[in-house]
Amino acid sequence: MIQMNNVNYRFCKRCLTRDMMDKDEYFKTLRALIEDVKGDERASDSLYEERLRVCLSCEKLFDGLCAACGCYVELRAVIKDNSCPYEKW
Ligand code: SF4
Repeated sequence: MIQMNNVNYRFCKRCLTRDMMDKDEYFKTLRALIEDVKGDERASDSLYEERLRVCLSCEKLFDGLCAACGCYVELRAVIKDNSCPYEKW
């Protein structure tokens, strides 16, 4: 579960594909969640880009997901206090 702006968002890693919403819609929701992280909770642009640069060179990155933790790395990285489960950032 991810908490942003006092709202809890749950991402299910174990849903069946038949229960998932349209993938375009899903990614729009994901992008909106990333944009919705604001203020003290949000990593600076430079920190965010540095984290994503590390993820892009990591063997655990697959389809935008981290194979180590199951998170979408862009959402994980935008939250200032988050860290990489492999301590790469
Ligand atoms: S969060 Fe860490 S382990 Fe996961 S893809 Fe990024 S660098 Fe790799």
